[in-house]
Amino acid sequence: AQHRYASLRDLPAETRDGAVIGMHMNAGLMADLPSLDNSGAEGVGLFRTELQFLIRNRMPKRQELAEIYARVLDAAHGKRVQFRTLDIGSDKVLPYMKPTDEPNPALGWRAIRVGLDKPGVMRMQLQALIRATRGRPLAVMFPMVAQFDEFKAGRDHVFRELEREAALGHVLPERVEIGTMLETPSLAYAPRQFYEMCDFISIGGNDLKQFFFAADRENERVRRRYDTLNVSFLSLIEGIVQRCDAAGTSVSFCGEDAGRPVEALCFAAVGVRQLSMRPASIGPVKSLLRRVDLSEARAVICEARENGRQSVRQPVMEW
Ligand code: PEP
Ligand code: MG
Repeated sequence: AQHRYASLRDLPAETRDGAVIGMHMNAGLMADLPSLDNSGAEGVGLFRTELQFLIRNRMPKRQELAEIYARVLDAAHGKRVQFRTLDIGSDKVLPYMKPTDEPNPALGWRAIRVGLDKPGVMRMQLQALIRATRGRPLAVMFPMVAQFDEFKAGRDHVFRELEREAALGHVLPERVEIGTMLETPSLAYAPRQFYEMCDFISIGGNDLKQFFFAADRENERVRRRYDTLNVSFLSLIEGIVQRCDAAGTSVSFCGEDAGRPVEALCFAAVGVRQLSMRPASIGPVKSLLRRVDLSEARAVICEARENGRQSVRQPVMEW
């Protein structure tokens, strides 16, 4: 199937009415990186750093991580890579960390909550990222931020480590951008100042959807119960994009749904201009986007909403 889309690789995901959608890829292992050239992705919209922690039976050392991140940046040849700090807890349990016995791990002590309460690992990771850049730009973001002060606290850690690394005589990144994942409905309604402070926002649709519909993404009985193209979810996404646009903050969508062509089209129709997905999805998504008129898609979605439809899927598929 890949070669079917090979001819699209170097073409933009431009709709018939001239909207250009940025196509980025998700990654987490060194083995993913050759896809950056093969898929035509413009960069890595989500680098899941926890995979490097999950494949080991001990905590990786700062030096090891710095070497891995440096190789990621080398392989990117100047394309942008958005590193996400460690997202552990919930479904991602490290074998060498004391398990926490929580009744609802997805709602529990995970990701940035761990990072802020026990900052040792996060600080080590930030040091490794700063060293890995060797003067190149750095883009780092935090997982599972639920309110403004968590973002500010994470950001302060980055500033502190930059100062510390400078004092130790390490070369600092040429530019540092600090962003966040938006994976909780609460963050969608954070104050304007939050949106202004973020250098970029990446919508983590997998978690955002599970929390929005209160339906466990790991639970087969409920995980497909609610349609991503439900009008309520699309309105949530649209509102987030509007708040980002008003603040001048770039926003991308990086959950699995970004790699599904009809979903990607609907996100674009409500204003999303950057998508990040597994590399194999870039061809199919681009192929559909290049064939559609986005303002027509938008009209179909608006009409479905006005007619009280629960999901826009059927109207969009029939259009
Ligand atoms: C998400 O939640 O949408 C996301 C991209 O992060 P992960 O799937 O790693 O939780
Ligand atoms: Mg997530």
